[in-house]
Amino acid sequence: MTNHEIWQAVLAELELSISKANFNTWFKNTGIISFDEGLAIICVPNTFNQAWIEKKYHHQLIKSLERITEKPIKKLEYKIENIKNITEKFATEQPPQTDPEQIATTEVASSLAAGNGFSINPKYRFENFVVGKGTELAFAAAQAVCNRPGEAYNPLFIYGGVGLGKTHLLQAIGNELLAKNPRCQIMYVSAEKFSNDFISSIKDGNARDFQNRYRLIDALLIDDIQFIAGKDRTQESFFHTFNELHQQNKQVILTSDRPPKAIPALEDRLKSRFEWGMIVDVAAPDFETRAAILAKKCAEKNFPLTQDVLNLVATTVHSNIRELEGALNKIIAYHELKGVGPTFVTVKDLFANMGGMSNHHSVAPKQVIDAVTEFYNVTYEEITSKNREKKLSFPRQIIMYLLREELKMSFPSIGDELGGRDHSTAMHAYEKIRGLLEDDQKLKQELDLIKQKLYINNI
Ligand code: ADP
Ligand code: MG
Repeated sequence: MTNHEIWQAVLAELELSISKANFNTWFKNTGIISFDEGLAIICVPNTFNQAWIEKKYHHQLIKSLERITEKPIKKLEYKIENIKNITEKFATEQPPQTDPEQIATTEVASSLAAGNGFSINPKYRFENFVVGKGTELAFAAAQAVCNRPGEAYNPLFIYGGVGLGKTHLLQAIGNELLAKNPRCQIMYVSAEKFSNDFISSIKDGNARDFQNRYRLIDALLIDDIQFIAGKDRTQESFFHTFNELHQQNKQVILTSDRPPKAIPALEDRLKSRFEWGMIVDVAAPDFETRAAILAKKCAEKNFPLTQDVLNLVATTVHSNIRELEGALNKIIAYHELKGVGPTFVTVKDLFANMGGMSNHHSVAPKQVIDAVTEFYNVTYEEITSKNREKKLSFPRQIIMYLLREELKMSFPSIGDELGGRDHSTAMHAYEKIRGLLEDDQKLKQELDLIKQKLYINNI
């Protein structure tokens, strides 16, 4: 076992015992630096994570490490380091894996580590999903599917960036279908699990079991379908599964991080199947929605925040809801640890101390506009004006593209940021730049430079 594999196994164990939000908050960006003669050194992203892991999970980690390595652990230490340094090192150590047997096991390990619970989590419901501009359509489509499964939209394809509620909606559909009809046979899996199941059914010679499991059902819910791209045999098997279910008007719902057309190495016949039904996106929440979601989560956790603190958090964390939940968990943990109540000042201090929060995700729309205008040597006033000269319209489109791609903003909010333009203008700009990027290397480099500036200035 390599250190990386050991750590993945430890994480997989841990994930079974703590909530996903907790898991993501504390163990994202952790790894093993070294493991020698009973001394294990764990990499953590910042002092705050270190304090919390040490306080809450130290013994559990030791036990888990001992179980997995079958060696006694004399000492477990923590070191603050960027996980990238470790994974890069790991990447160079790893031999290329081409043997299918090996691929199967790494796929299983990674799906374990990714925590694909294979049963529907009852906590994901329509009632506790806060609907905002970015999710209105997806939410309505999900409900329509529950009212008329197999008839309204088949398949329903929901796509969007991480942490924006795709899994929540998908499982809410499952829960709702079950509530309406407890005998409904629902299969909910990640695409990785589907693929692993398929691989093991072939290995063990029980293809029939596999088919029964996936085809004699009323609804098939597959999360993160983009993972089957490039896995030819899995795609083939999914194609047949899909056809069979579809022919019998059984509902299929899929989620993905991008629209079918934009999934590389996805077979054309699958892309076209996905377009038979309805394709909807989820986009990042605006400020009001973030504040509403946060208020709801606070109420669920019985940890009230005053309006000014709520606003502070909703302003600081604007990339996605998972980060928002993570931030709330940290706030709760920090105040429990210190034994004080949260105030504007303590929360602000906490954010300031959490270097990790101000990465990638806390770039604001204005910073994107600044970076692009500086790059193309135009001004903010010009870019938000009605002037449509090419010298201005191109950088404007780049801004629209970046706001969508990097900040996952909804098209209407993008239009608002740029002097109150229509959402269709933003949508058109996004598609145009995305198209250009497919074969314009120079533009790609320009965008990379802009992004570098954006993120480096914000670390
Ligand atoms: P995705 O699958 O798109 O990466 P998830 O569905 O896992 O995102 O969402 C991440 C977390 O945020 C989950 O805990 C989920 O319950 C919560 N969440 C996402 N969107 C909403 C929403 N609109 N209202 C309430 N909670 C949400
Ligand atoms: Mg998901």
